[in-house]
Amino acid sequence: MTGEDQRAVVVTGGSRGIGRAICRTLARPGTHVFFNYYTPGDRQEEEAAADETCKLIESAGGKATGIWANVADKDQVKDFFKQVMDACGRIDVLVNNAGITRDNLLVRMKESEWDDVLEVNLKGPFLCIQIAARVMMKQRSGRIVNIASIVGVVGNPGQANYVASKAGIIGLTKTAAREYASRGVTVNAVAPGFIETDMTAKLPEKVKAAMLAQIPLGRPGTPDDVAAAVRFLASEDAAYITGQVIHVSGGMYM
Ligand code: NAP
Repeated sequence: MTGEDQRAVVVTGGSRGIGRAICRTLARPGTHVFFNYYTPGDRQEEEAAADETCKLIESAGGKATGIWANVADKDQVKDFFKQVMDACGRIDVLVNNAGITRDNLLVRMKESEWDDVLEVNLKGPFLCIQIAARVMMKQRSGRIVNIASIVGVVGNPGQANYVASKAGIIGLTKTAAREYASRGVTVNAVAPGFIETDMTAKLPEKVKAAMLAQIPLGRPGTPDDVAAAVRFLASEDAAYITGQVIHVSGGMYM
């Protein structure tokens, strides 16, 4: 199979947590999964995490490419998508998953904490959608799935920046869905509740217990719970669904 025959799937923030589970779940023979990752810090540790995601994609029969690129940096995003287009000449699925938190009470929140979160969680998806949607509209097919959060709907003390970014991504999803529907491109969001990943591991035990108490299904979610919803929205079975927010939260929000 040549590169041009490959189905191209792009996942942002695929080196860990929910993004890694999405990469693995969308991988299959005939699919090339591209993912990026980026945290200024221990590059060696990150490369090892990205290698692990590649192995999981390949074990599922897919082709894997992991690229160190910041979703908030326009030039790096352009380069990332250039590599996708050079290899496959198309983009079938885009999952905007990369996200960060910088929690603080609103009155104490530093401008940099606000900016960092909005840049990665909201500007990142904007930059990626702009590039991918142009390609998808020409193809007259494509699936975009944005990872929002339950808190973008209900709010959460200490997370004004994160909540604003996740409420923003829901608005972005609905607008993009309306703009691209006539070209056969669907745009939906998945809103996870409390999922066990590195992001939630750093929460104090008291906070985790309080969140658990609010989950009717009685357990935290797993990255695979979220990936299953993404797989559905990225599939042919979801052809008649666009502009929707699917909550994967064990019933935390009804
Ligand atoms: P995670 O374990 O912290 O993983 C985040 C991923 O995003 C990592 O692969 C990270 O790469 C990547 N990333 C961070 N900043 C990036 C940037 N500027 N450019 C490119 N990649 C970047 O987080 P998670 O819990 O899996 O969360 C994934 C998504 O689900 C996020 O959008 C989050 O807001 C959302 N979500 C999570 C929960 C939850 O309970 N966990 C609930 C609701 C929504 P590195 O490995 O290089 O750091």
